[in-house]
Amino acid sequence: MPREYTYGPFQSRRLGLSLGINVLPNYKLCTFNCVYCEIGITDKDGLVSPEFRVKLPPSASFRKELISILTHVPHLDSITFGYNGEPTLNENLLDFLKIAIDVRKKLNWTKQKPKLTLFTNSSTLHFDEIRERVKQFEFVLAKLDVATNEDFKRSNRPHINSPDIEAVIDSLVKLRHEMPENHELAIQTLVFNSYKDDFIPNNNLKNLNKLGHAIKRIKPNFVQIYSIARIPAEYFVYAIDDKRKSEIVNYIEEVVQDNDVQINFY
Ligand code: SF4
Repeated sequence: MPREYTYGPFQSRRLGLSLGINVLPNYKLCTFNCVYCEIGITDKDGLVSPEFRVKLPPSASFRKELISILTHVPHLDSITFGYNGEPTLNENLLDFLKIAIDVRKKLNWTKQKPKLTLFTNSSTLHFDEIRERVKQFEFVLAKLDVATNEDFKRSNRPHINSPDIEAVIDSLVKLRHEMPENHELAIQTLVFNSYKDDFIPNNNLKNLNKLGHAIKRIKPNFVQIYSIARIPAEYFVYAIDDKRKSEIVNYIEEVVQDNDVQINFY
C-alpha cells in the first residue's frame, strides 16, 4: 500500500531500529528555522507561531499502514513521532498515539515492545495542554541546543512569538516534574561550528556553560550531544568532531554533577 505517514524503519544511533511517523502536512511546518536543519530552510508560510495549530486527524489508512509495516519488523525499538517539523503543532497528535498504542498491543514482538517516542523542539511546552500530551509518550526527545537568547536567535531562528530561552528551559523543568516515573526525557543538543567569521556557532563557552546549568535544573534522564550528519539548511555551518563532542560531554558533566543524568555523545 502507498505510504502516507511512515518512514523507514531506519537504524538510529540514538534510538536503535526506529520507524518514523509524520503527523504534519506534507510540507515543513515548524516554529524554528534552525541553521542546521536537514529538511532545509523553513519557508515564510511554514514558519509558524507556537500558538498555531493544525487539525489533522489520522485517516483510516494510518492504522492499516502501521500494521502492514510493523508485522515485518517484530524487532523494532522505537515508533518515533516527529518528521517534517514540530509534531506538537498538530492538535490531533494523541489520536495518532492512541492508534499506535493499540496496534502495538495487538502485534507480537521478538524482544521488548518498541517505545513510543516523540521528538519536540520544546517551543510549545510552555502551554499546559501541550505538556499534558507530550508526557503521554514513553520517551520524549526534547531539543535544547542553546541557553542564551543570542544563541537561540542565531541557531534556531525561532518565530517571533516564540518564548525566550529562559521560558523554554522553565517549561522543560515543568515537563520533567509532570512526566510519569516510567517515562523518560532526553535533552538533545546539536552542537555545530561555523565557517563564517561573523556568525558565532553554539559551540561557544558561554552557551555551553549556560546549557550545563539549564540541564542541571531540568534533570533529564539523558543528554544526547550530537552534530550535523546530513546537508544543513545553511552552507556556513558544519559538524564538530568526536573529540569536541567528548570535551563537551566532560564539560557539561562537570557543571551538572548529577549521576542520575546520563550524558553521551553520538
Ligand atoms: S526544530 Fe527541527 S524541524 Fe524545525 S527547523 Fe529546527 S531542526 Fe528543522
